[in-house]
Amino acid sequence: MRGQIVAGNWKMNNDLSETESLITSLKAQTKTSNAEVMVAPTATNLYSAYNSLKGSGVEVIAQNMHFAANGAYTGEVSASMLKSVGVQTVILGHSERREYFNETDEMLAKKIDAALENDMRVIFCFGEELADRKSGNHENVVESQIKNALFHLEADAFKSIVLAYEPVWAIGTGETASPEQAQDMHAFIRKTLADKYGADVADSVSILYGGSVKPNNAVEIFSKPDVDGGLIGGASLNAEDFFAIVNAF
Ligand code: PEP
Repeated sequence: MRGQIVAGNWKMNNDLSETESLITSLKAQTKTSNAEVMVAPTATNLYSAYNSLKGSGVEVIAQNMHFAANGAYTGEVSASMLKSVGVQTVILGHSERREYFNETDEMLAKKIDAALENDMRVIFCFGEELADRKSGNHENVVESQIKNALFHLEADAFKSIVLAYEPVWAIGTGETASPEQAQDMHAFIRKTLADKYGADVADSVSILYGGSVKPNNAVEIFSKPDVDGGLIGGASLNAEDFFAIVNAF
């Protein structure tokens, strides 16, 4: 059966000492749920975070990576470099990467391939913009993001893929999709996978919701049958809030 996951995306926040103090606070928290817990510090802090969180049950994951193995890509980091500092999982396709760094579905398909070739797990993010939701086009947008980036893969690859539905209009805005909107979209995503790969694959993939998840709305969102966890931005920067969300299952 698919697992529950709560992953914190720290984005471009926290220098080395701030990262270490957040990790100290995280280690003081008690986990009462079965959810897998992950945090994504900024690239410069991955190695120290990995060492500090080793054995704690909190996995350190990356926010992004390049598709090439190495070479003339100034400023970029490859899968093998991430693995060399202990990172096994990478977030790909976050809407901020798509918007500010022009990441396309085609580029993301290549990044996904590179991660899988390196035996990494991928949290693949996608989601519609407000205009798509208002025009009733949200399912078409999500379907094409999934198809373009993932449907070249064999069914077996989905053992290493986690999906994160993040409506762009709900990220960092305080506006959340209602639990019903989240459930409807997650069920649609699962059906899209089932149509291509069959129900067994679709039922085995964890689908996270992301977009202004907070301690006061997590229980209701996570109670929905097709919501298997959350990708948490703002609230993951506070250890108590983050663990309140982890323990919302
Ligand atoms: C995110 O950045 O993935 C996110 C969901 O952010 P927030 O929780 O702040 O909306």
